[in-house]
Amino acid sequence: MELAGKESCTGCGACAYVCPKKCISFKKDETYYDIAYPVIDEKQCINCGKCQKSCPALNPLERATPISAYAAWSSDSEERRTSASGGVAAEIYKYALKKGWSIVGASFCEDFKVRLELADDLDAIKKFKNSKYVFSSTADIFHKIAQKLKEGGKIVVIALPCQIAAIRKIFHDKLDDLLLVDLVCHGTMPYEYLKQYIGYIEKSYCKKAVRLTFRDPAKGTENFALSLYDEKDVCFYSCASFEDIYQFAYHCMVAYRENCYHCCYANSNRVSDITLSDYKGLGACSPCKFLEKKVSSVLVNTTKGREYIDELIHNNLIVVEKRPIEEPIKGDSQLRHPSVKSFSRRLWEKKYKRNFVNVTLYVYKMSEFRNILLGIYYLPNRIFRKLYRILSS
Ligand SMILES: Cc1cc2nc3c(=O)[nH]c(=O)nc-3n(C[C@H](O)[C@H](O)[C@H](O)COP(=O)(O)OP(=O)(O)OC[C@H]3O[C@@H](n4cnc5c(N)ncnc54)[C@H](O)[C@@H]3O)c2cc1C
Ligand code: SF4
Ligand code: SF4
Ligand code: SF4
Repeated sequence: MELAGKESCTGCGACAYVCPKKCISFKKDETYYDIAYPVIDEKQCINCGKCQKSCPALNPLERATPISAYAAWSSDSEERRTSASGGVAAEIYKYALKKGWSIVGASFCEDFKVRLELADDLDAIKKFKNSKYVFSSTADIFHKIAQKLKEGGKIVVIALPCQIAAIRKIFHDKLDDLLLVDLVCHGTMPYEYLKQYIGYIEKSYCKKAVRLTFRDPAKGTENFALSLYDEKDVCFYSCASFEDIYQFAYHCMVAYRENCYHCCYANSNRVSDITLSDYKGLGACSPCKFLEKKVSSVLVNTTKGREYIDELIHNNLIVVEKRPIEEPIKGDSQLRHPSVKSFSRRLWEKKYKRNFVNVTLYVYKMSEFRNILLGIYYLPNRIFRKLYRILSS
C-alpha cells in the first residue's frame, strides 16, 4: 500500500486517522532532512485502501474561486494589536463561541510543539491567535472534531490549507456543520529544527526559554520579531531581521518540508469557505484610504463563507472595505504559485547533515557572500544607469 510521496505528503495525518488497524505512524526520516512521514506497519495492514482514498494529496479536492475580497480588521484594537495582521481570525472565533459553536486553532503545547486544538472558551483564542511558523500536528484533532459533530455541535476551523483539505476529506458528509477557514501559506518547517534552534539560543544566552513568539506583539506583529522570554517573562532574545537564522530559514524559504515547494494549495482557487492573509498590495488595483499595515485580506469563497462574513460586518465585529478580487492575488505570490527553491535552499539541501543550526549558519554566510559578489558584478551597470539618468535629466 503506497502513500503520497515526499513531494506531496503534507503530513496532514488523514491516512493515520482513517486506518481501521491503526497501523500508520509518523516517523522522522533521518535520510531526508529529518522530516516526519507516515509509515505503514505492513504486518498489520489489511490492504483495505482507506488510507489512499482519504489522502488529499492522492485525490485532490475541488476548489472554489473567490466570490469577493475585503481589506479587513477587528473593531477591537487589542485583538488587532496581538494578532498577526488584522485580527479577523479572533473575531471569527468570538462570534462562533457566541453562537454556541466550538473553535479549532493552532496553539503551543509542551516544548514549543504546535498542535491543532478544539476549544469552547474565549481563553483559547489567546492561544490560537498569531502565527506559529512551524509544522503543526493534527495529532488527535480529527477524533475531537468527530466527537463534537456526533454530539450535534458546529465548529469553526482556522488552519493551513493542507489541514483544511484533510478535514474536508474525512468529514465530507458533515460539511454543513463546519465553517472552514484557511490561511494563505508559504510553508512550514519541521518541529525538529525549531527545537535545535531554541537550544542554540538558550545556550548562547545561558537562559531557559519559557515563551516564544514568532511575531512579537510587544514589537508590533507587523515587524516579524521572533522573541524568546524567560521564566520571569523577561525577553532575553528578540530579532526582527533575517540575521536570525530561524527567520532566514523560514522567510527566505530555505528549510520547508519538501511538499511546500510543490504545494497544490498555493493558488487563487481555495479549499475553504474563507481565506485569510496579510494584505499585500493594498491599493494597487484601485485607490484605498488605508495602509496595508495590520490589515488582513479576506477572500470569501462560498455562500456559507459570505453569510458568516456578512454577520461579522453587521455585528460591527470587523471593519471592512470591499476590494477588487485580483488585488490580493496580485499582491501575494502564494496566491499564484508555491514557494520557489532558491540558491540558498539548493545549497542547504546539499549541505544538510542532521544539524539545522550548523547548515543554516553556513548557508546564511554563503548567501551574504553571494550578495556581495552580485553587488560587485552589477556595480558598473548601476553606475552607468545613474550617469545616464543624470545626463539625460
Ligand atoms: C505557517 C503560516 C504561513 C503563512 N504564510 C502567509 C503568507 O505567505 N502570506 C500571507 O499573506 N499570510 C500568511 N499567513 C497568514 C497570516 O500570517 C495571518 O495568519 C493571517 O493574515 C490572519 O491574520 P489574523 O490577524 O486574522 O489572525 P492570526 O492572529 O494570524 O491567527 C490566525 C490563525 O492562525 C492559526 N495558526 C497559526 N499558526 C499556525 C500553524 N502553524 N498551523 C496551523 N494554523 C496556525 C491559528 O490557529 C489562528 O487561528 C501565514 C500563516 C501561517 C501560520
Ligand atoms: S490499507 Fe487499510 S489497513 Fe492498510 S494502512 Fe491503509 S488504511 Fe490501514
Ligand atoms: S493523508 Fe496526509 S499524511 Fe497521509 S500520505 Fe496523504 S498527505 Fe501524507
Ligand atoms: S505550503 Fe502548502 S503544503 Fe506547506 S504547510 Fe502550507 S498549505 Fe501545507
